[in-house]
Amino acid sequence: MPRQILVTSALPYANGPIHLGHLVEYIQTDIWVRFQKMCGHECWYVCADDTHGTPIMLNAEKAGLTPEQLIARAYDEHTRDFSGFHVAFDNFHTTHSPETQFFANDIYAKLKSAGLIETRSIEQYYDPVKQMFLPDRFIKGECPKCGAKDQYGDNCEACGAAYAPTELKNPYSAVSGAKPELRNSEHYFFKLSDPRCQSFLRAYTREEGRLQAEAANKMQEWLGAEGENKLTDWDISRDAPYFGFEIPDAPGKFFYVWMDAPIGYFGSFKNFVAKKTGEGVAIDLAAYTDAQAAAAAGTELYHFIGKDILYFHALFWPAELAHAGYRTPTRIFAHGFLTVNGTKMSKSRGTFITADSYLKTGLNPEWLRYYYAAKLGATMEDIDLNLEDFAARVNSDLVGKYVNIASRAAGFIAKRFNGQLAPADADLPAIQAIMTAAPQIAEYYEAREFGKAIREIMALTDAANQYVDSVKPWELAKQEGRDIELHAACTNALNLFRLLTVLLKPVLPALTGQVESFLNIAPLKWEDTGGLLAAGHAIQPYRHLMTRVEMKLIDQLVEANKSNLAPAATAPVPTTPIAAPAPVDAPTPVCSIDDFAKVDLRVARIANAEPVEGADKLIRLTLDLGNETRTVFAGIKSAYDPAALIGRLTVMVANLAPRKMKFGLSEGMVLAASDANGTTPGIFLLSPDAGAMPGMKVK
Ligand SMILES: [Zn+2]
Repeated sequence: MPRQILVTSALPYANGPIHLGHLVEYIQTDIWVRFQKMCGHECWYVCADDTHGTPIMLNAEKAGLTPEQLIARAYDEHTRDFSGFHVAFDNFHTTHSPETQFFANDIYAKLKSAGLIETRSIEQYYDPVKQMFLPDRFIKGECPKCGAKDQYGDNCEACGAAYAPTELKNPYSAVSGAKPELRNSEHYFFKLSDPRCQSFLRAYTREEGRLQAEAANKMQEWLGAEGENKLTDWDISRDAPYFGFEIPDAPGKFFYVWMDAPIGYFGSFKNFVAKKTGEGVAIDLAAYTDAQAAAAAGTELYHFIGKDILYFHALFWPAELAHAGYRTPTRIFAHGFLTVNGTKMSKSRGTFITADSYLKTGLNPEWLRYYYAAKLGATMEDIDLNLEDFAARVNSDLVGKYVNIASRAAGFIAKRFNGQLAPADADLPAIQAIMTAAPQIAEYYEAREFGKAIREIMALTDAANQYVDSVKPWELAKQEGRDIELHAACTNALNLFRLLTVLLKPVLPALTGQVESFLNIAPLKWEDTGGLLAAGHAIQPYRHLMTRVEMKLIDQLVEANKSNLAPAATAPVPTTPIAAPAPVDAPTPVCSIDDFAKVDLRVARIANAEPVEGADKLIRLTLDLGNETRTVFAGIKSAYDPAALIGRLTVMVANLAPRKMKFGLSEGMVLAASDANGTTPGIFLLSPDAGAMPGMKVK
């Protein structure tokens, strides 16, 4: 029975170019979808540009465009880049569409009638010149901890401190430069903390196969123990002016990203179903979106995402869907991030490589598809694009091993045998090996263990080459009366090549297309691993299939991306799909006991303290928590001599997300008091009374 599968990748933000980091996910998803289609399943791959939000509104204004014009330009660029890398969406739409608005309104109305929407007044910075509320990343000022200038409203890039925008000293709007005012505004919240959401999510996230093991563990941590309530309500609204969908019963209020962008998955699919209906192909939309219809039809829904948006896709999104009567994701597949040459992609090093520059430099997109496939597994581990290894691997595997099989056999078939094949030897060990391994390789594809699939395929390719080496067609061709052997050897080699091509087809779709026309065969399906080409089958003349990767090209690519360096924008441009804005970006005037309980405060002993070279405000602290030690960079050097700190006790935030700084990883934060107005200069480190022990919880 063919399966009915709907697959999505995260929505790219329509405010920047697609780069090689994004492509990890799209290539991973595309390979998986192509594999499903080859197996004869009904598998639809949809995506869309994420088009709403303040950054797009402001950037359009700066560029002298309407937001609609800006997103239309991004749409053209994105679709061009995706098709350049053979990412074959069945539909790539936009969230700025009637379909997405339809679902957003419907889900919102159903959540509201279920009592899961609540309004709350929150205090937020307002730009009196621009007349708009400011997202955290559009407020700048001096860090309340270390005093560094021009820091964003959510954290300090100099000392790593995290804070609310209201804590910044001398705040100013990054949009107009004006001094922002605190104003109250009514915001809409989805009540994720509702007991119904909690109990649903406990069951949902624990179901077998729903999440990768590491993700499921993370969810249990986020959900807390039975009876604990660690989830907080999610702010789903923003005030005008905003580029997005107005909330139906709330003039001047707009749906924020969480009630908008991911709904674009369904919006894109609805748009696709309408197009197919126009072509006379019936697809039952409800069978993919409605909870009951989906259960009855047995349809499957898979989201491929980056690990940074796991919280959102595994908690908020299913809770939102389930309580609005919509179907929930069958599985969520999270992947890691891309590093280039072992470190974060960097504009100054030229390793922040755009999809467009890769193609324009003349690199073959299938080289990258192959390299990513060879590196990808089913876990959330990061993958590294090492540019030298990339060239070496593609040259050795694809050019040196795989394509080589065809190039050594095809010419003789054309010249000596009128392009026609002899009977193939079905018992040949190298052929048998491929047929036997095919089901295992199919399992690897299904499980997203592409690296394992490639390793297996390359072992089979080695065996095929050993066969060609052993029969030596080029020597047989020189000897009188050995035509039958030559014909058989070349026929077997081309059959081996065809079988290997089936196995590689999900990864190398364009190359496979060339092979299919060279071999003069119908598009290959997975079941073709079970058969051979018939005797007498005529092939087309062989043309060279793939060139080698030259390091010279890679150097050009890196250079091209160095010169791409744009002057720093006044506001940051998010490039990660959906995740860009932080989940909560408004200061909350009142903190509930539950909110406070999320902060893990511990007594810590300062085991070591030393100055940090190149940072005159920082001290590197080694903190002893009883059963572990942490490194924390604290902006307290103006007040303390490092040596005097060693041995004393203080209080630290132990569950603060680690933060990568110029000087190393900061794994927490120590607590200190200071006068916000600066009238009493100084920083005062907190200490517990005598008798407290490292690791004790502060509550
Ligand atoms: Zn700072």
